[in-house]
Amino acid sequence: MGSSILTLNGGSSSIKFALFAPGDPPTRCTSGKIERIGQSGTTLTTKTAGSAAEAPRPIEAADPDSAARQLLEWLDRRVGLTSITGIGHRIVHGGARYTATQLVTPAVVDELRRLCPLDPEHLPGEIALIEGCGRRLPTVAQVACFDTAFHRDLPRVAALLPLPLHYFEAGIRRYGFHGISYAYLMEELARVTSPQEAAGRVILAHLGNGASMAAVHERKCVDTTMAFTPTAGLVMGTRSGDLDPGVLVHLVRSEQLSADALDELVNRRSGLLGLSETSADVRDLLDRRATDSRARDAIAVFCYQARKWIGAMAAALGGVDSLVFAGGIGENSVEVRAEICQALDFLGIRLDEQRNARGAGLISADNACCAVRVIHTDEESMIARDVKRILAELPRPPST
Ligand code: ADP
Repeated sequence: MGSSILTLNGGSSSIKFALFAPGDPPTRCTSGKIERIGQSGTTLTTKTAGSAAEAPRPIEAADPDSAARQLLEWLDRRVGLTSITGIGHRIVHGGARYTATQLVTPAVVDELRRLCPLDPEHLPGEIALIEGCGRRLPTVAQVACFDTAFHRDLPRVAALLPLPLHYFEAGIRRYGFHGISYAYLMEELARVTSPQEAAGRVILAHLGNGASMAAVHERKCVDTTMAFTPTAGLVMGTRSGDLDPGVLVHLVRSEQLSADALDELVNRRSGLLGLSETSADVRDLLDRRATDSRARDAIAVFCYQARKWIGAMAAALGGVDSLVFAGGIGENSVEVRAEICQALDFLGIRLDEQRNARGAGLISADNACCAVRVIHTDEESMIARDVKRILAELPRPPST
């Protein structure tokens, strides 16, 4: 198999990968993940298209570099590395600099290193992965796909955070995230409906462990809920979403919380987990909410805040023609979709109960003004498409 594309989505403690066979669009043939990197119980789980996931295998990986090495060794044994002609990396933060997918060069890696203070959680691991692949496969093109790039057209009024202006000039502004998912959803929306519907006023709701929304008009993002970091906006699995900034000042003063302790609080101990005191997983909370008022509160706050944000995104767009649910919660939870959409009739959002219950692609009622859709998002496929496009633009080596 020639010209396959490897996609890598590296976090601080995990790497998700997928291998795509050539095609238009490229098709996923193998995928998997390494979890708990640098912790006890590191595992590699793999899945071949058309068969069930294999049982997780224990591996030794103290850091992302060693994890990447083992992943490439596994791929070499399983499919052979010579088939890989391009590697696409999901990069969470591209700062103001990267507004489109980039071919990775030494200068790009240097620039990413410079951007690390913007995203100390993801960028160092992502750079380690690029460098690890570069050492093992020095002649294979690597491509960086940025979650922030989708939001490149944010109007100044949406990008400005109301702090002293010099902070904006120093890069403290709304960037927005989940952009690879949003780019995929827009392509799918145009494909399953029409280019006209995709060019209308669209609210994209990516509701997974991390959750955000984007308001899109004429295929350009005009506003989004995440901001300088992915902590902003909606209530999430373990992230707080928007907070009164005064709460943080109060906690620094009253509990002498350090920057690391605040980071831990707002990113890993808040949201659904913080409110429920038990779980960040919506399935657990739905199961428990009849008997546990904390689980009930957590789901209620999640849905209420999501509903308020739909109102805000609709205001940014001057109305809404399509609302798209995606992500683990958006794609799977009938109850959460129904609860978010209740009382949004004033925006023309009205669900058809049966369509919603069976998880149809279109879940709005026939007479509703706004089409409400469920689209399975696929960030890896979007990265593979981007890599294919970048590879096609590269000058061909002269024939001998
Ligand atoms: P990530 O942001 O980590 O990629 P996902 O998009 O996989 O997250 O979403 C994870 C969330 O989706 C979890 O809260 C999980 O409970 C929720 N979820 C997955 N399947 C269902 C389901 N059938 N019903 C309700 N929630 C679900």
